[in-house]
Amino acid sequence: MRPFEYNALPARVIFGAGTLQCLPEEVKRLGCTRALVLSTNSQEQSAARAQKLLASAAVGLYANATMHTPENITMKALEYAKKVNADCLVSVGGGSTIGLGKAIAYRTDLPQIVIPTTYAGSEATPILGQTVRNQKTTLKSEKVLPEVIIYDVDLTLTLPARMTITSGMNAIAHAVEALYSPEANPMIDMLAEQGIAAIARALPLIHKNPQDKEARSDALFGAWVCGTCLGAVGMSLHHKLCHTLGGSFDMPHAETHTVILPHAVVYNAPGAPKAIETVARALRVENAAQGLFDMAKNLGAPYSLKELGFKEEDIPKAVEIASRAPYPNPVPLEKEKISELLRNAWAGNRPI
Ligand code: NAD
Repeated sequence: MRPFEYNALPARVIFGAGTLQCLPEEVKRLGCTRALVLSTNSQEQSAARAQKLLASAAVGLYANATMHTPENITMKALEYAKKVNADCLVSVGGGSTIGLGKAIAYRTDLPQIVIPTTYAGSEATPILGQTVRNQKTTLKSEKVLPEVIIYDVDLTLTLPARMTITSGMNAIAHAVEALYSPEANPMIDMLAEQGIAAIARALPLIHKNPQDKEARSDALFGAWVCGTCLGAVGMSLHHKLCHTLGGSFDMPHAETHTVILPHAVVYNAPGAPKAIETVARALRVENAAQGLFDMAKNLGAPYSLKELGFKEEDIPKAVEIASRAPYPNPVPLEKEKISELLRNAWAGNRPI
């Protein structure tokens, strides 16, 4: 076995159906009495349920979380958290809401209980992505790692079909890049393969029946496992491109991951044959890139940047931004080859 270093992150995870009911107990367990509940506009109702459960232990609801964690929203939420004198944060939602909670925790060190409702995996990472003047940057700090994760399968039943598929692909992307990360290690390799397999098994079943609780449960478990991979090891070209497209071109997060992933796999396969073989095995396909592309397309997810509204003429600018800072990647980063990747992703070409 090759030598490795691995830093396990602390996590308290409660997983099941109906587990939202555990929230008051978890707030108490942290020694807190003044929770601020966070959500997006569209999930205000779910957040209000959490607020109602907490009764007097909730001091407010801020329902304006926004994708890519714009700094101006963080500042407003921070002001509100101070005004209500919150002593902990309860984030109910996907990566956007969890991102807002992390951004507040980074500035205040308030403890966080997160109740994820998508498969983005942010709850399991010490990573915070924030957008300031159209530039998305990320930082790593244990301050932003949530103290408690409550996975409630019931809350994922309402995740719309298309979002379910793209969010699942987003989770798979974390595991794929973990497998060829310079910090890869046998523990994370195992999690990555299990995570990809769980999500690949679940998505077609959820596509057929969004209320399939067993499949929803598999997908949510996969999301945790893939998020753990993202939190443990560094990511490469795929994540860099998606961050650029999200932060600088306001492209939707999960959809962009879905479109880029098969093409990033084509780019990196020559430098990471064993990792890509593992991906194919987990997906139960011959060719990992084609398997990912076909899975997204067959399940009705977007498969081109064009259909997401990205302009072809913006490709050179995206390549420029994504190439500003060097980072490890299994295949050397070459602007012309990255342009080609983006041109293929833009057109929605099936990987060869
Ligand atoms: P999201 O949180 O923006 O959710 C998308 C939409 O779906 C929102 O309107 C949300 O309210 C709604 N929604 C979520 N769950 C729902 C449910 N169960 N039922 C009905 N509606 C639901 O999308 P996302 O893809 O989860 O998160 C994207 C953001 O997360 C990006 O900003 C990304 O950078 C960040 N992210 C961060 C990390 C990290 O480790 N820091 C990891 C992954 C993603």
